[in-house]
This record gives sequence, structure tokens and C-alpha cells, in this order.
Amino acid sequence: MNLTIEDTPEGIPGVVARLRAEFATGRTRPLAWRLDRLAALRALLTEQAEVFQQALHADLGKSATEAHRTEIGFTLNELDHTVAHLEEWLRPKPAAVPEFFRPAEARVVRDPLGVVLIIAPWNYPLQLALAPLVGALAAGNTAVVKPSELAPATSAAIAELLPRYLGAETVAVVEGAVPETTALLEQRFDHIFYTGNGAVGRIVMAAAAKHLTPVTLELGGKSPVVVEPGADLAVTARRLARGKFLNAGQTCVAPDYVLAIGDTAAELEKELAAAVGELFGDDPSLSTDYGRIVNERHFDRLAALLGDGRTVTGGGHDRATRFLAPTVLADVAPTAPVMQAEIFGPILPVLTVPDLDAAIAFINERDKPLALYAFTESPESKRRLAEETSSGALSFGLPVSHLAMPELPFGGVGESGMGRYHGEYSIDTFSHSKAVVDKPLA
Ligand code: NAD
Repeated sequence: MNLTIEDTPEGIPGVVARLRAEFATGRTRPLAWRLDRLAALRALLTEQAEVFQQALHADLGKSATEAHRTEIGFTLNELDHTVAHLEEWLRPKPAAVPEFFRPAEARVVRDPLGVVLIIAPWNYPLQLALAPLVGALAAGNTAVVKPSELAPATSAAIAELLPRYLGAETVAVVEGAVPETTALLEQRFDHIFYTGNGAVGRIVMAAAAKHLTPVTLELGGKSPVVVEPGADLAVTARRLARGKFLNAGQTCVAPDYVLAIGDTAAELEKELAAAVGELFGDDPSLSTDYGRIVNERHFDRLAALLGDGRTVTGGGHDRATRFLAPTVLADVAPTAPVMQAEIFGPILPVLTVPDLDAAIAFINERDKPLALYAFTESPESKRRLAEETSSGALSFGLPVSHLAMPELPFGGVGESGMGRYHGEYSIDTFSHSKAVVDKPLA
């Protein structure tokens, strides 16, 4: 099903009304319905893996391995974890009753919300549409999914296949760009889950305010990396390069820039160049493991940043194929354009700071990041970074991977977003924790 405002007989209000009517039947509440819908979603992801893989390759040049690891397999892991724990998560939680009210029982029950809207971006266009859907269905809701128009092949595959597997009464896919999303946002939803940039996040939140609809905003920003003397710089560089150049740097939690403390920069730069060579060979344009920039607008934006420092490795680019080499820039000034906004591409600036105090001050002078990474052997530095900075996530020694740990909440703070999901946190997001009290009448 490929809905736009013009070609849907019922129009967007009708689509929402259909999903609301289904929710109102009460069918979506029992555990059995939820597990059945999740099983259907599992079947979709496994039976149509090839279709999604090809779509992801067409949109972003993703290799089959990356498509599996970061999109299809990722979503399956999230789904399997949810299925394994759902019964336990939905069990009412007993609450203590103060003596004054006894005899009475009290409990917390997770109630489904109704119809939720999921708006997804283009960079992990399958995962970021369907992993939130796992939570929405597990919590007993129906959903409208709005994939990103900037990943058109994946959007089309989702639109065609999702309602076929899950049923048009459970989920609707609305494809399109600003007009379609604007029309959707005029409707009343019971929750809006948006992943993307902060400018649109503000539009979503303003539209949600009209209906007093709660929102989750999964946004982005510049995620810093702190490297301290004493850290193994070869290991640091390998892990940094893997996290940064995954999906050609178009990852919300990609390391955005490095704050190299003391004299670590020179050695780290050498190791980063070696790590890029190890990962993608001498000519990354020939590597089947290396992705492409999503479109020409983003390519031009990124190409304009290549001169913002001394090129340690990379710099090569080709507009016709939207190839931009994994690039490390050194001697970058904090005032350089590359340091002003989230890079969201394969360019890694390295800045030098004298000590941990300076690194912490640098981080705290800027927006709260979605993730903060540090490579250090010092427990005292880890403690200080944990206590003196604020970020969506904090990871020592391992960039990006926290989002694949379903027992961890995933979300931002401040400019990097509000709300969280994955695993049980998704159930919280897509349910209402209802207080229930039961006192005998006699
Ligand atoms: P995008 O351009 O695909 O936009 C996201 C969604 O918003 C799309 O579905 C799009 O149709 C819709 N949209 C765009 N303009 C709109 C408007 N004016 N009104 C209503 N809806 C509109 O993706 P993007 O925003 O370029 O994505 C990149 C950003 O997302 C980066 O900042 C990145 O860090 C962030 N991101 C965050 C996460 C996370 O989980 N926190 C994940 C991926 C990306």
C-alpha cells in the first residue's frame, strides 16, 4: 500500500480512523495478539530480507553484511528480545499500600495508548521505521509508519510489504515528504515517535502540542570522542574508524569529532590512517563494505567541509557516484565550519586539547550530545566524565554499539532529544503506566 494524500480514497484522516476503530475493538490488547503481530513482523524481515537488502543498497550503497548487521538483523534482535520478555514486562507490578489505606491492593498496569505515528529518517531507513514499531505493537497499539522520502527504495518496500504481512487494520504506511507529513501531523495521535533532525523535531512537537500528544524525539548532534594519553591508540583508532565510517558516517551516534588530549594527536592520526586502510583498502571507492552519501545535497554540504583542516587520510570524492572517502582532518580549529553542526558524513576532525579539564569544558560549552565516547585507562577520568558531563549515552572504549544492547535505553537529552526506547524502554514509551487501586467495600 502506497498512500499519499491524493491517491488514498479515504485520505489520511480515514487511515487514522481505520486504525483507531481497530484499536477500539480491544483486539490489540491481549498478549496473544501482540505476539502474533510480532511473529508477522519477524516473517516479513526474514522472508523479504533480500528485497530490503537490495533497497538499502539502492538507497545508500549498503553492503549485504551491513544491511543485515545494522538494519534487518538489528531489528530482528530487538524483536526477539521483546518477544522473549514481553509477558514478564506486561505483568502488573504490585505497589506498596501505606498503612492508612489498608486493607487495599495497588498495582501499576501498562495500558496501550491507541494509534501511534512513527516518522523515520533515511540513514537507517528500515531499522528506524521498524524497531520503534516493535515497541508500538508489543505495547498493544496500532500504528502509522512514515518512512523517509530520501530513502525511496526502502520506503517503497516498507509501504508495499508491511501492511501485507501485518494487516491494513494494524498498520498503515504513508509515503511522502513534507506535505504528507504535515497532513499526518494535523491528525490526533496518541503518541508521536520522531527520529531525525532537531529543526523538524520542533515542527513535530509544535504540531503534537495542539492535540496534547506526547512525543519521543530521537535527534542527533555532535557526539565527541575524548582520547587520553595512555590509551592504546591502535585499538582506539580501529574502533573509532569502524564506528565513524559505518554507513559512510551517516549514523546518529557516529563519533563526530575527536578531542585528543596532550600529545596523543600525532600518533592517533597515524593509527587512524592505518585503520582506514585496514577496513577499506587503499582505494575505498572499490570497497564493497563502504557506503555512499544519500544524495547530492548532502554530498555538496560535506565536500565543502573537506578543507577545514590538514588531510591525514582521505579527501577523495566523486559527485557522480556520491562517493566521499573516509577522511580524517587534523589541526582543526573549534571555529571551523566542520565544528559548527553535526557532520553526518565520513569526515573525522581531530582537535587537540591540553587536558581532561579542557575536554570537559569543551563538551559542556556545547549542546548535550546523543553520545559521548572516551578512550582512557584511568578510572578517575571515567568517573569525572560520567559525573561532569551530560549526554544521551556514555561509552568507554566502544563507540556506537550501545544502541545494539536492548537492555540499555536509547535516546538523547537536551538538543539530542527526549524520551528513550529499545527493549522494555519501548514498552514504557508506547504505554501508559496506569495506577490501579482496589480496596474492598467492606
Ligand atoms: P529526514 O530528512 O529523512 O527527515 C526525517 C523525517 O522527517 C522524514 O520522514 C521526513 O519526511 C520528515 N520531515 C522532513 N521535513 C519535514 C517537515 N518540514 N515537516 C514534517 N516532517 C518532515 O532525516 P534527517 O532529519 O536528515 O535525519 C538525520 C538526522 O537525524 C541527524 O541529525 C541524525 O543525527 C538524526 N538521527 C537520529 C537518530 C536517533 O535515533 N537519535 C537516528 C538517526 C538519525
